[in-house]
Amino acid sequence: MKCKICKETANIKLDYCGLKLCKPHFIEYIQKRAKRTIKRYQMVRREDKIAVALSGGKDSQTLIHILKQLYMDSNPLIGIHIDLGIDNYSQESAKFVRILCDELEVPVQIINIEKEYNFTIDMVKNNKKIKRPICSNCGLVKRYVLNAFAKKFGVNVLATGHVLDDEVSILLSNLVNGNFEQLIRGGPFLPSTDVSMIARAKPLYEISELETTLYAHFNNISFIGTPCPYDVNATVSSYKEITNKLEENQPGSRYLLLRNYVKIYKKAFKTYNIEKQQEILHCNVCGGPTIRNVCAFCSLRKKMEGNE
Ligand code: SF4
Ligand SMILES: [Zn+2]
Ligand SMILES: [Zn+2]
Repeated sequence: MKCKICKETANIKLDYCGLKLCKPHFIEYIQKRAKRTIKRYQMVRREDKIAVALSGGKDSQTLIHILKQLYMDSNPLIGIHIDLGIDNYSQESAKFVRILCDELEVPVQIINIEKEYNFTIDMVKNNKKIKRPICSNCGLVKRYVLNAFAKKFGVNVLATGHVLDDEVSILLSNLVNGNFEQLIRGGPFLPSTDVSMIARAKPLYEISELETTLYAHFNNISFIGTPCPYDVNATVSSYKEITNKLEENQPGSRYLLLRNYVKIYKKAFKTYNIEKQQEILHCNVCGGPTIRNVCAFCSLRKKMEGNE
């Protein structure tokens, strides 16, 4: 098997397009694909300050490596990691984030939620009064904290490591459950529509998990190998199984589904829902973006303080 570009021995064959590539040309190909996604959805402007939300996992570690190669000469880049206070797991995650950011010489900010807000995800999990699933609360905390600190650090675009596999299964789950708001707000780029909201970008939107795994492996990128102890999201996994099966039978179908969702369906959903779109308000407690008087994060915080 020969690399299509240099004719040396190829290390990988991509089933969805039949491309055979050697290690250096695969790395270059993935970087170009990320750049194409960024340009296609106009995620980054000249001089924008970019922050990467780093969990210590493979996808976000790969993302910061790619963005460092693409933007080192043009845009300021930082990493933001949230110490969620999950015993052992949080310490391990932070270790991998620090190692990679040191190697790449990218400044990183580690936000400890216990120091900032007086609670941890372990405490939320153990609080009997809180009924919402732990991953929903954790997702809420991460979104809030990333937005608040990105704003504090003067960031214009917050990049997250969501890959094609995640996005296709989330899309399928939203369609099955009729989550109309999420179908409208989903997609590769959410521009800032209010001063309190930082734009969110997913530069790996069109890159698969297999590709990020190979990219991390070929570049010796270290990442946390153990999953979070609360990661038992069987529903998302079952959607992933279905979409992986679809990809196996029809290579390239997941990519096509996402492209058509953004190009055709998302626009149609938006037009249909135009009158119902809710105005963004500012939380009475923290001033952050919300659709109610008090944002969901401040409500959770109040519950953790025992005031509700
Ligand atoms: S698995 Fe759930 S609790 Fe663990 S980090 Fe992810 S969202 Fe948070
Ligand atoms: Zn080659
Ligand atoms: Zn608030």
